[in-house]
Amino acid sequence: MAKKTVRDIEITGKRVLVRVDFNVPIENGKVTDDTRIKEALPTIRYLRENKAKIILISHLGRPKGKINEKYRLTPVAQRLQELLGVTVLKIDDCLGDKPAAAVKAMQPGEVILLENVRFYPEEEKNDPAFAQKLSLLADVYVNDAFGAVHRAHASTEGVAHFLPAVMGFLMEKEVKALTKILTVPERPFAAILGGAKVSDKIGVVKNLLGKVDVLLVGGGLANTFLKAQGYEVGKSPVEEDKIKTAGEIFALAKSRGVKIILPVDVVVVSEGEAADKIKIVKVDEIPADGQIFDLGPESIKIFKEVLQGAKTVFWNGPLGVFEQKVFAEGTLAIARAIAEDNLTSVVGGGDTLAAVSKAGVAQKITHLSTGGGASLEFLEGKVLPGLAALTDAAK
Ligand code: ADP
Ligand code: MG
Repeated sequence: MAKKTVRDIEITGKRVLVRVDFNVPIENGKVTDDTRIKEALPTIRYLRENKAKIILISHLGRPKGKINEKYRLTPVAQRLQELLGVTVLKIDDCLGDKPAAAVKAMQPGEVILLENVRFYPEEEKNDPAFAQKLSLLADVYVNDAFGAVHRAHASTEGVAHFLPAVMGFLMEKEVKALTKILTVPERPFAAILGGAKVSDKIGVVKNLLGKVDVLLVGGGLANTFLKAQGYEVGKSPVEEDKIKTAGEIFALAKSRGVKIILPVDVVVVSEGEAADKIKIVKVDEIPADGQIFDLGPESIKIFKEVLQGAKTVFWNGPLGVFEQKVFAEGTLAIARAIAEDNLTSVVGGGDTLAAVSKAGVAQKITHLSTGGGASLEFLEGKVLPGLAALTDAAK
């Protein structure tokens, strides 16, 4: 069901509680990566232009329901203020006299940032009384925290039951891009899945099998798939309890007419050897003491050919241990291959986004999904509680 957005609701002069995802890395009191703050700016700017009173709320890290100086949002307020070019008043609490007084004194267009909502244990418990108290601060609720939308917490879900509740622009952009590839992708539609473990990705693999034309599998994930196909993978980590599932996935793919493409050659290092003692071997010749760390050149070629024929691609999960230069070739080559003008590319996952940046192609990706867990759950076809709780758009 489509949801209302901040465009569909009267906000002028209104107190608007905006759930943002300001869960950013902080070192020595400074924000070291402000991507998530920047992603929230279009909504905040729109609310300012339309003379709303903007009350921002976010979590940061995992303080587990207790006040923790390390997780205060003060450095975030500082950075947001620089980016917006207007004063951002930081309040050291979410409830009680201080926020109430600050909100009461607000003029239209002003911005305040409440304290880390996870300082309250009621947040992650989605305590209705707590959510209701939060709602009393505002007239309207906007959820723009796509990265937290798969969580049913008080500030992401609970509060939506007490106020008119709409999507912000980041939420709208994410939902649009992911809905498009799940429902009306331009075909052929290819998905590339990698990363360390099969267990993280089974739900996504299964749901995508009903959507894609071809599935490319690499990374540590591929070890278990190779094993399920009868290959010996030496010392590479295999999830023994998932071999059967991998087998079922091949059967499911076959019944749906979806091609699953595995590596045909890989980069291995023998146990005890230095990382630069790499060998390139075919997947049926992996030595018993060898461990897989990357795609081989023939696999890269095959993956690239598939991508050249595709119109839409979704990618999650690095295809090798790309953090180390000697094992980065497969991941970087694929990042470059999807950065083509005639290809709609959607990329999700924290490490995969890092790989795309490393390859220098972030600007050329159609949609970089900011929510790691949230985008995967969306693609699994799960209901995202923070989204479900928002007000339905008129038909
Ligand atoms: P994302 O954060 O994009 O969802 P994941 O967290 O699932 O991605 O996976 C990222 C990790 O997978 C990286 O740290 C990378 O080193 C690891 N990885 C990729 N290929 C392999 C491999 N062949 N063996 C072990 N780890 C791998
Ligand atoms: Mg990761």
